[in-house]
Amino acid sequence: MQKNTQCVHSGSRIDPATGGLNTPVYPSSAFRYLDTAENIYPRYYNTPNQKSVVAKLCDLEGAEDGILFSSGMAAVSAVMMAYLSSGDHAVIQKDIYGGTHHFVTADFKRFGIEFSFTGNAAHEIEAAVQPNTRLIYIETPSNPLLMITDIQAVAEIGRRRGIVTAIDNTFASPINQNPLNLGIDVVIHSGTKYLGGHSDLCCGAALGHTKDIGRIKSAAVNLGGSLNALTCYLLERSLKTLAVRVERQNANAMAIAEFLARHPAVRRVNYPGLESHPAYAVARRQMWGFGGMLSFEVDERHATCEHFLRRLKLVTPALSLGGVETIICAPAATSHVKLTPAERTQLGISEGLLRLSVGIEDAEDILADIAQALSR
Ligand SMILES: *Cc1c(COP(=O)(O)O)cnc(C)c1O
Repeated sequence: MQKNTQCVHSGSRIDPATGGLNTPVYPSSAFRYLDTAENIYPRYYNTPNQKSVVAKLCDLEGAEDGILFSSGMAAVSAVMMAYLSSGDHAVIQKDIYGGTHHFVTADFKRFGIEFSFTGNAAHEIEAAVQPNTRLIYIETPSNPLLMITDIQAVAEIGRRRGIVTAIDNTFASPINQNPLNLGIDVVIHSGTKYLGGHSDLCCGAALGHTKDIGRIKSAAVNLGGSLNALTCYLLERSLKTLAVRVERQNANAMAIAEFLARHPAVRRVNYPGLESHPAYAVARRQMWGFGGMLSFEVDERHATCEHFLRRLKLVTPALSLGGVETIICAPAATSHVKLTPAERTQLGISEGLLRLSVGIEDAEDILADIAQALSR
């Protein structure tokens, strides 16, 4: 089955009582145990609604097994805690989601875990590997600079050195990129973004081989970030339109990136679908679509960032991303606000950088709004 079909059908269960086409919601937290093969409990990640969604995500990512979490950071932290112990070392791409960056810098030291932040070139990642490295962690396209990491090259380093590789696949979604097929061990999503897609739920997921998911589940049972049945149901409903939404967001983002790249008031556009992107060839090789995220810098001689944001009428300055509505934010004030100004400068995140999450509206309307806000 292909992706649109998987989105609609994989994992969904017909209601045995009524023949209804949608998976019933099972909100129980207490389940009988005498005649069951396993003890069912929400924090054991094995309730019917959790399993339905996991089955759909597994088909979409080409995974054997998976776990659903109550947030993307619950997924990120569970994966890291599953593989890293005191005395271990992790190689972590430095251009990553601000919350992940903050987790590493704020908490790893307390657990005695060493880490190296690296650039996203495979040779830089390999150069950072030490004898005690247990995890290589990447994010591509990255947040907020849309840098592209060569997934296959990183997976190959992990395989050769016997190190687990994990990727945050949030920006691409399973529609545009399937890292497990490229050799990565564990795929993470903030399901709050494209998977949910309507800016109304918070969840996360980790997907991979049965062996890896079993290990992550052991940590996750103790960490406790499981997802409730009602949000599972909302997520399952959202996933039915994931491919339709993402395909349209890909097309809209491409049109907007091309428009911005030509605009005299825009200094620089970061979008992997533009041939001018330094890793365009890698992106073409490993992605089916280039995604709905882009970032750009407004030339402050034309309009200050703040001025531009306040003049927008349709595009909304808001946190988060991946929803049906087009939203925009300045990472320095939002996703990366916890980093020091020096850390942001080092990463290349200027105060004037704007990150656009392109929705499913008509591209002409989004373009017209951006054009009027950029005009003097
Ligand atoms: C939002 C985000 C996260 C964290 O997800 P939450 O659901 O907010 O916990 C992790 N990675 C990326 C790339 C994100 O955009």
